[in-house]
Amino acid sequence: MKLGIISDTHDDVNNVREAIEIFNREGVQYVIHAGDYVFPGIVMEFKRLNAKLIGVLGNNDGEKGHLLKSFLEIGGELKGELGEMHIGDLKIGIYHGTSAEIKDQLIESGRYNIVICGHTHKKEPVGVEIGSYSIDSPTLVLNPGTAHKKVESLARAFIEGGVIILDTESQEYKHIGLP
Ligand code: MN
Repeated sequence: MKLGIISDTHDDVNNVREAIEIFNREGVQYVIHAGDYVFPGIVMEFKRLNAKLIGVLGNNDGEKGHLLKSFLEIGGELKGELGEMHIGDLKIGIYHGTSAEIKDQLIESGRYNIVICGHTHKKEPVGVEIGSYSIDSPTLVLNPGTAHKKVESLARAFIEGGVIILDTESQEYKHIGLP
């Protein structure tokens, strides 16, 4: 089964549309959004997605009720700050990454094979575009970076990222860049 991973879309409708095209082309069954939608209306864009959207809340997601309503309207599932998914033997934890301490706690708990997060807008693992995982290995952290259009700024907040495709059969993942 293939899963798509996206995070920190921060209102960028154009890049969300581009990401959905990638997910549909790759034939993913689920898309996991690690939070920071900001404007809840952007969730409605995922109506075009041929997969189920599963999301957690980020630190910039204040309009929880409106977000939940949008998720329900598109047949998606909005979890709270922490999401968990079991696919066969594979245990996945989903957390935005708001607290670095909680992120570390989740990684070190041994509770998950893979922890999916966002928030830093930096890709993880660092410097690995295509990689693999094994059920016996230590917890793998997957962060797609930001899905927002890359822009130069003093804060350098939007300079890195795209989406990730995770294949649970080949046990491989790959980063795919966005504009
Ligand atoms: Mn964030």
